[in-house]
Amino acid sequence: MTVPNVTLNNGVEIPQLGFGVFQIDPKDTKEATLTALEVGYRHIDTAEMYGNEKEVGEAVASSGLKRDEIFVTSKLNNGFHATKDALQAFDTTMDDLGFEYLDLFLVHWPLPKIGDFVETWQAMQQILESKRVRAIGVSNFQPHHIERLLKETDVVPAVNQIEVHPYLTQDDVRDFNREHGIATEAWSPIAQGKVLDDATIVDIAERLGKTPAQVTLRWHIQRGDIVFPKSVTRERVVENFNLFDFELSDDDIAAITALNRDERTGPNPDEFNYIPS
Ligand code: NDP
Repeated sequence: MTVPNVTLNNGVEIPQLGFGVFQIDPKDTKEATLTALEVGYRHIDTAEMYGNEKEVGEAVASSGLKRDEIFVTSKLNNGFHATKDALQAFDTTMDDLGFEYLDLFLVHWPLPKIGDFVETWQAMQQILESKRVRAIGVSNFQPHHIERLLKETDVVPAVNQIEVHPYLTQDDVRDFNREHGIATEAWSPIAQGKVLDDATIVDIAERLGKTPAQVTLRWHIQRGDIVFPKSVTRERVVENFNLFDFELSDDDIAAITALNRDERTGPNPDEFNYIPS
């Protein structure tokens, strides 16, 4: 089963399917990540906020794979948007992961009412210049946030990681990203399970002999987005990886896209200004 790569705007290649570790208890993260790597995943999405970077690093180190065979993303936590804090937080992330380089580092949330994310992005540019990260990007940025980065800074984000699933198709943000050469990463790709009972998705899955999760993840893949479903259940980790031996028709894709209700499972980035204590 070969996972296709997406080429980012600086030439770096990222596997289109990965494994997310949000809400995996640190004590379970090493085992869950090792399971994903055994199944064949070569892309792991973590964050300082998830509290499990150290365990992701341990899994990578003990996997028997070479560091350059695995693409790892982490994210700058919300309390560290000022330049000095961002530079220090990146050092801590690298220490926790135990890596000499990171593949992708993202600003986790724009926090429009706290500090200025343009300053944060300038710090990200400094981190990129240090060559300890292969690509930098943003997460949960709305087009008007990215417009400011495009006007006021030098590096176009390589990715924008946003909530996307059949109940929140985000076509405006995805179109904006595409027009600016920014790859879209779709977080909570199965809406944490909420879309799996949907009659339209269940009908397509039954017709194709696939599961609702596989149909939903395949919908993302055929739309060109990057996904990293999370599961601590081995059968689901296997199920979610098996997306490349079938195809959805244009009608199936359109039917799933028509399920959009603009319904978020997470916060609205324009209103979210949370800093963990
Ligand atoms: P997902 O949409 O990946 O859903 C995960 C949930 O669905 C878990 O409860 C899991 O259960 C269950 N599940 C997984 N696969 C299946 C399946 N095949 N059948 C039935 N149930 C299934 O949600 P996440 O919020 O975890 O999003 C994925 C990743 O996106 C995160 O891990 C993180 O890396 C990233 N993310 C980024 C955010 C950001 O702000 N940038 C915010 C949120 C997520 P179980 O584990 O018990 O098997």
